[in-house]
Amino acid sequence: MAPVHLGEATHCPYCALQCGMYVRGEAAGGTLTITPRHDIPANGGGLCQKGWTAGELLTGGVRLTTPLARARRGGPLEPVSWDEALDRVAGAVRDLQTAHGRDAVAVFGGGGLTNEKAYQLGKFARVALRTSQIDYNGRFCMSSAAAAANRAFGMDRGLPFPITDIAEADAVLMVGGNVAETMPPFLRHLRGTLIVADPRETRTARQARLHLKVTPGTDLALGLGLLHIAITEGYADRDYIAARTTGFTEARASVAAWWPERAERVTGVPVAAMREAVRLLATADRAMILTGRGAEQQSKGVDTVTAFINLALALGLPGREGSGYGCVTGQGNGQGGREHGQKADQLPGYRKIDDPAARAHVAAVWGVDPAELPGPGRSAYELLDALGTDGGPRGLLVFGSNPVVSAPRAGHVTERLAALDLLVVSDFVLSETAAMADVVLPTTQWAEEHGTMTNLEGRVLLRRQALTPPPGVRSDLAIVAGLATRLGRGEGFSDDPRTVFDELRRASAGGVADYSGITYERIARETGVFWPAPAEDHPGTPRPFLDGFPTPGGRARFVPVEHRPPAEEIDDDYPYYLTTGRLLAHYQSGAQTRRIAALNEAAPEPYVELHADLAERLGIVSGDLVRVTSRRGSAKAAARVGRAVRHDTVFMPFHWEGANRLTNPALDPTSRMPEFKVCAVRVERCGDG
Ligand code: SF4
Repeated sequence: MAPVHLGEATHCPYCALQCGMYVRGEAAGGTLTITPRHDIPANGGGLCQKGWTAGELLTGGVRLTTPLARARRGGPLEPVSWDEALDRVAGAVRDLQTAHGRDAVAVFGGGGLTNEKAYQLGKFARVALRTSQIDYNGRFCMSSAAAAANRAFGMDRGLPFPITDIAEADAVLMVGGNVAETMPPFLRHLRGTLIVADPRETRTARQARLHLKVTPGTDLALGLGLLHIAITEGYADRDYIAARTTGFTEARASVAAWWPERAERVTGVPVAAMREAVRLLATADRAMILTGRGAEQQSKGVDTVTAFINLALALGLPGREGSGYGCVTGQGNGQGGREHGQKADQLPGYRKIDDPAARAHVAAVWGVDPAELPGPGRSAYELLDALGTDGGPRGLLVFGSNPVVSAPRAGHVTERLAALDLLVVSDFVLSETAAMADVVLPTTQWAEEHGTMTNLEGRVLLRRQALTPPPGVRSDLAIVAGLATRLGRGEGFSDDPRTVFDELRRASAGGVADYSGITYERIARETGVFWPAPAEDHPGTPRPFLDGFPTPGGRARFVPVEHRPPAEEIDDDYPYYLTTGRLLAHYQSGAQTRRIAALNEAAPEPYVELHADLAERLGIVSGDLVRVTSRRGSAKAAARVGRAVRHDTVFMPFHWEGANRLTNPALDPTSRMPEFKVCAVRVERCGDG
């Protein structure tokens, strides 16, 4: 094998665009510079402020460089040696499993981990811990769009086309996505007429020709209304439907009663705007429909995405070059993170854990008996909700996640974490969750290690190591290998990313997400490879649906869906909707970006955004401290009054503790994704309090 050298060309540590960047200089002397790469199509020379400043955590003094542990429960976290830390974790794991069974210990992973780490974590849970209790924070992010795409197309690959195809589209409908704020370089690909569906006039909506200011939790009804218009006004592509789909008759019947006036009553979007949206999409030569978290993070997220896939199919978009449906993935490795086995119900290669053939294949790669592999475990919120309860896990190992801030009903989740006998957090900063841990394991960061990431297009990229890590930190792979060894199952747990990737390739071979033909050299040579790539001489698959869909009959499936209201409707006690989202300066729970001076200066604190009419009714002006209360808790922040958000809705960014103390953990029945995007709240001015 050719060695992989320390290099300068790598990728941003944050979102799923995975912008290419060069990292030059030395971390130790603080001389690090970051510049954008032009050879990566996703960013093509652009970066957002998060990317430009990403080096600060590598050079700054806020990172962890020694393991920490508490000498006694409730005592302070104190530096310990690596042997002490790992021995202590392995000993506690053994004790808990001996006393309460294997499922007494759980693993919680992250959508920002490299493919190698995601893969190794799934194997570690099933082979070393032999627990079924593993899931990851991507369940909060991607699972509804994934389930809907699997149901319709037989495959979930966020964008089933290169991102540059979006620039070919003459019209784009973006449902519940705010790329101008979350991933600004994405904007270079939005060249056609833009239509945005969102309860707020976001930065993205401000750039749109048409903004559908939908009532939170009613996107599904909007999708049904748009499909009704498309069919009744003669825009359905009959030839495409006949040749490439199944189930149209049932889908048509399901929207028969969704005449535009009814859709307007439910969604708040005027009939004329809905008609115009359909006309713009249907009369464009090439058109795309994209969904983001706004459509997906609902207790009916799978059906909501399905409604928009049905619309895309009726207009004949998926599987045509320059047209289609895609999901704009959020987390850095949100795509790869869900392909390699850190999900409760999956094995590597996007295989189902209860499929006997999948179990046999993966068990053979892992050198274990298939009967030894546990079955499916609890989904992310259900896992967090069960911590420390009778029959629930008593120990939790967290890798690259900060659920104290990012989980729904976060106050309750924090209580569950506090009820554990063992909480271990592997991270490079002392996040809110790490601060609660019994043992904290300090890790290497993105530019200090090799690894692959799969971006929102399904393009597998190489994150090269550009810097030597400081003494005292270890990679997650080394941590997992060290624990597996102490648990007597160390064989087959390498700390070398390339060795792990080569095993991942074998484990994924023959699966939907087949990486077997992808090597580090190929990725470097070809600037990324699209999966599936089942052989080294296979070109990869940029557009998997052009010649047919990977369903048994090769056709995409319409799936009829029904609108239903949010799990929690507004009432006299909680009369307004709360919706949450991201800001340009911060990423996810903010554990990293809140520690970067320039980003903190740009967005130093949370706020509550409300419409001027609502603010006047409540006697609130900008800058007032307000309290927002839901059935699960309350949060205080300064008011921002304007006209961007709907008059019946308040908005809070979720990068700080607070917003998710309010959110509703009601789960989608299929994807088990919580309803982050809508709950009922009341709002009051706190005076000086
Ligand atoms: Fe690019 Fe996303 Fe990083 Fe910004 S945060 S530089 S958009 S990868």
